[in-house]
Amino acid sequence: MYELKVLYLYPDILELYGDFGNIQVLKYRLEQRGFKAIIDKYSIGDNPPDFKSYDLVFAGGGADQEQSILSKDLIKYKDNIKEAVESGVFFLLICGAYQLFGKYYKGVEGNVIPGLSIFDYYTEAINDRKKRCIGNTVIEAEFNGIKTEIIGFENHGGQTFDVSTPFGKVLYGHGNKFGDNQEGFFLSNVIATYLHGPLLSKNPLLCDYIIKHCLDRKYNDNVILQPLDDNFENSVRKQLLNRFLNSDNNKK
Ligand code: GLN
Repeated sequence: MYELKVLYLYPDILELYGDFGNIQVLKYRLEQRGFKAIIDKYSIGDNPPDFKSYDLVFAGGGADQEQSILSKDLIKYKDNIKEAVESGVFFLLICGAYQLFGKYYKGVEGNVIPGLSIFDYYTEAINDRKKRCIGNTVIEAEFNGIKTEIIGFENHGGQTFDVSTPFGKVLYGHGNKFGDNQEGFFLSNVIATYLHGPLLSKNPLLCDYIIKHCLDRKYNDNVILQPLDDNFENSVRKQLLNRFLNSDNNKK
């Protein structure tokens, strides 16, 4: 039986925006196909994880203060994480976690939180608490040669600069910073994005891309994912895309 080993980072700290839902959707879409989901959790004080022994590493979003607390712990694993990224382990990073894999995150109070510097981008919040990128967001992303809309919700003060390979083009909402037409950061085994939602609940195709990518790598196989009944998800997507992209108040 195919199984996926997932490391869920700081579930007790990076849990302000309900990103835990991504773990639930991953688990559901694996088990619906008769596959096994092994979900290990790691937070401050736990035994150090070996990132390379996992198929997928996930971390969600959080407030500046929480990011500052955990960054001192996360940075201890910089080399192990870098090796894991380079060996093809999949990383799904949402918002606050996305920011911490870059050079640094300068919070709204002007405090600089050192990042892992595994990727070259950096993030700086505008020193005005009212100036945050908040709202529904739609981007056009491409993976496995498929172009599709990715729907989510963003809530970040951080403005991210110098993204070499974005996850998608903004069709509605803000993206990496105010007025940007790019959102997130993408490599074949890294999706770092501002999109909460939870992300995977609104984007079943994306969830299946991640599952297949991880299983193909782990089993050195071309794993066939039996289609699931996504009628409900797709009807919700149709409604949302119509609301955000076709309405006359379509603001990018
Ligand atoms: N605290 C960070 C910011 O405000 C990240 C927010 C988040 O994870 N949604 O930009």
